[in-house]
Amino acid sequence: MRLLPIVHHPDYTADTPDGHRFPMQKFAQLAEILRAEGLAPHGFVSPEPILREDLIRAHTPAYVDAVLSRTLDSAAVRRIGFNLSERVVLRAQLATAGTLLAARLALQEGLACNSAGGSHHARADQGAGFCVFNDVAVAASVLLAEGAVKQILVVDLDVHHGDGTALIFRNEPRVFTFSLHCDDNWPLEKPPSDVDVALPKGMGDAGYLAALNEHLPALLDEVRPDVVFYIAGVDPHQDDRLGKLALTDQGLMTRDRRVIEAVRRRAIPLVTVLGGGYGHDVTAVARRHSFVFHAAADFLVG
Ligand SMILES: [Zn+2]
Repeated sequence: MRLLPIVHHPDYTADTPDGHRFPMQKFAQLAEILRAEGLAPHGFVSPEPILREDLIRAHTPAYVDAVLSRTLDSAAVRRIGFNLSERVVLRAQLATAGTLLAARLALQEGLACNSAGGSHHARADQGAGFCVFNDVAVAASVLLAEGAVKQILVVDLDVHHGDGTALIFRNEPRVFTFSLHCDDNWPLEKPPSDVDVALPKGMGDAGYLAALNEHLPALLDEVRPDVVFYIAGVDPHQDDRLGKLALTDQGLMTRDRRVIEAVRRRAIPLVTVLGGGYGHDVTAVARRHSFVFHAAADFLVG
């Protein structure tokens, strides 16, 4: 039986104050769920912290150096929403490296999942909205620089618009960005992706899945990417604290299966990253994040 490569690191979890809106413990709980449900019988693949030379392929050297030396000014730190402790910086380096590692594994194995990542609000020269480094942008830029791929598609189904990724790649035709998000939601300013689909507040499973079906298969055939990055945020869920759409668990599961099938039926390598998911019930959030891992593992078994 083929095993799904899952990238994880214990230090994906850093400390945030109790009650912080970002449910940091979801990473540890997700790993527990994946272990308990038999998805990691031989454990996880673990990344080393990402190198500065990789980070500056998508970020400005000044921003990268300010983060790594923890000298970012206080307004820039507030925009991110975390204090930049050593652990938080390490976590950002590991999560970014994890997405790059998962991408490399996906190119070898067809399918791989990172249990963090999807920090799509980070721009070249600043972080925002709990995003320090834009892991997908860094991984995509490294693969392009190495000549490992020629064309990339980012499928961003986090409920928030992928503004950072859109800006980083606005003049890069080799990275096609697709964002399906709730229109009436943060960030207010939504710089254009290559394709943006803005959904109305409160939309449920049927409308959401119809919109996905309308765009994704056609985009895969048009863009013909060498690899797809799928940001599988679970914040479109009806119970999400920051969402505003109304998907059910079943809706999210169907979404993840459809994305994986659409990409893998075309034999395109696929890397999945976590994206957002927010709630007081961290276990419920972690469980929602586990859906995409199950969908990927089930696809491999066929
Ligand atoms: Zn989000």
